[in-house]
Amino acid sequence: MNSLFATGVRPTMDKYFDNKAKEIRDYGDYWSASSAGYCMRKAIFERMKLPPIIQDEIANHRKQRIFSMGNVVHAWAQEITRETGVSVGQELELIDELLKVKGHLDDLILIDGRLIIYDYKSVNSKSFSWSKLKDYPMSYYHRMQLGTYMYMARKRGYSVNEGRILKISKDDMRMEEQQLMWSDKLEQEIIDYWFDLNRFWISGEIPPCTCAEHEGGFMAKANFNPYFYKDEPCSLEYFNKYIKGKKGKDNA
Ligand SMILES: [Zn+2]
Repeated sequence: MNSLFATGVRPTMDKYFDNKAKEIRDYGDYWSASSAGYCMRKAIFERMKLPPIIQDEIANHRKQRIFSMGNVVHAWAQEITRETGVSVGQELELIDELLKVKGHLDDLILIDGRLIIYDYKSVNSKSFSWSKLKDYPMSYYHRMQLGTYMYMARKRGYSVNEGRILKISKDDMRMEEQQLMWSDKLEQEIIDYWFDLNRFWISGEIPPCTCAEHEGGFMAKANFNPYFYKDEPCSLEYFNKYIKGKKGKDNA
């Protein structure tokens, strides 16, 4: 860090983000809907409040800034749909007692008498070139998250059969939409995922790490995986160390 950064506003900002990151969203006895589809071992470690490993302080601060800019983009889109009157619900809290899932959907939009659940995702403009090249299908994680929101909204009585991801690029404000229609197959996939996760949680069995299975395996990489330790994503060695340390403290 050069002296301008060190003597300016930057350390305050970094500290602000560090404190924000420490305010881990507590979902209590529920899973967060936004973790749908992600590695079950990771979800269980998070619910057990295993402290994440920070590999690189500078990269971590940048990641926190990117995350926070995502919230700005959310608020921007929500303001527009609110002011134009197409939004019928924003940050709507949904809870499912059977699946033990809690979440807030970004926007529920009513257009031509049709309800659509919208999830706003801020992205880098580079991702638009990839999606054009490969005729990219909706990300597995996005599909599971949207599907979970649809499942919960339908159970709450909303007659919604469609979910969309609106990608918004932060650097050139391009937009792209992806659509997911409700189906019996999707419903089964959603139920199976959360049932499996609950089964692992109740039995205390640690599930395998599936971080490498989707989207080119980016979640298994050191800079994305919060429990990357000695070359292993969602490391069991790290987990066992933490549990041992905790037991030691509890018995002291
Ligand atoms: Zn994992």
